[in-house]
Amino acid sequence: MPPVLGLSPRTGSLESLREHNLLRVIDVLLERGVASRADIARHTGLSRTTVSSLIADLSDRGLVTERVGDDQRDTAGAGRPPVLLALDRSAGAAIGIDFGHSHLRVALADLSHTVLAEAERALDVDGSAGEGLNAAAELVDEVLAEAGVPRDRVINVGMGVPGPINHRTGIVGSTTILPGWADVALGQEMERRLGLPVVVENDANLGALGEALFGAGRDAQEIVYLKVSSGIGAGMIVGGRIHHGAGGTAGEIGHVLVNEDGHVCRCGNRGCLETVAATRGLLEQLSRTHGTDLTIEDVIGLARGGDPGCRRVIADAGHHIGQAVAMLCNLLNPARIIVGGDLSAAEELLLDPLRGALRRYAIPSAAEDVEISTGSLGEQAEVRGAVALAIGEADRPLMQATGGRFAAQGS
Ligand SMILES: [Zn+2]
Repeated sequence: MPPVLGLSPRTGSLESLREHNLLRVIDVLLERGVASRADIARHTGLSRTTVSSLIADLSDRGLVTERVGDDQRDTAGAGRPPVLLALDRSAGAAIGIDFGHSHLRVALADLSHTVLAEAERALDVDGSAGEGLNAAAELVDEVLAEAGVPRDRVINVGMGVPGPINHRTGIVGSTTILPGWADVALGQEMERRLGLPVVVENDANLGALGEALFGAGRDAQEIVYLKVSSGIGAGMIVGGRIHHGAGGTAGEIGHVLVNEDGHVCRCGNRGCLETVAATRGLLEQLSRTHGTDLTIEDVIGLARGGDPGCRRVIADAGHHIGQAVAMLCNLLNPARIIVGGDLSAAEELLLDPLRGALRRYAIPSAAEDVEISTGSLGEQAEVRGAVALAIGEADRPLMQATGGRFAAQGS
């Protein structure tokens, strides 16, 4: 593979220092999508003058363009909005794949994280992994065709799966939580189907990443994202980075004990948080009084209309989640807790009791530090995080991204 932009990573000369700084500027643009010169200076620690000169260099090469966005707020205060810069659209594209428990979503974005096309499909993830991966490969073909992006411009694919992922092996780390997916080398299997590199990550971690970069957690470094859908998972951003733990299974908050005599959980334990607070658990609790045809959207709608049973199960779920989160707050001291997933549509019906339990069970200082809200990306959080993962983890992204235009000249 030829060097990035004809840059060599050797150190020791002024020229290689400049090359190194160019890469740092590119890294900031890859991570943030769009950024002003001031943002780039802040994130690289380089002077404004140096940044301006580096940007001029990258613009001359056709790699960076000025971008008119809809959130051009001047973070520095008054004055006209700063010019936002982004990597040029021709520099490459990335794909995010999000497997939920009941859906599959795929998004294609350019390297400024702007979504060019997306597609989704209902899917029962508890079925076989092979079926799910095949469906994802079809949706990838669809979004590429829709946006008219050739496959070889895609630098990387990020894929989120609702289960603990072992980071050494890329395999779902539990045979009980996602039985049909256990022992499958998901990354390799998907790479084989797509002919593209694939990074695999837990879905709640991707939701956390999406909200941290583009949503409700944009200005915080310490974030816990809770995905409350038919399962419950937490993604933890610590010091601005996803916290994986030793084997990649950190954040399985759905399986902390809340009731020793409770129902048996799909993980094999009894009385896990999921059994009382995940949407599946809520529907089960309501089946005797409300029948078995309810969806979680129905439950939330009925609760808003004042149905006491539906209000009660949502409030109890909020309370139990708050208990578990209180423990997490004492341990991690996050600045922001962002609730996403299907049940987050209940908003204050869920968050009020959650806050109440948190105040009751967390130490006061930890409870005071934390702000609790629903996510602002809704069901897009995970797939946006998957795109960000793909861009962030691309193997020296620009090497491939510019491969068509720049490396061809040099090799
Ligand atoms: Zn469990």
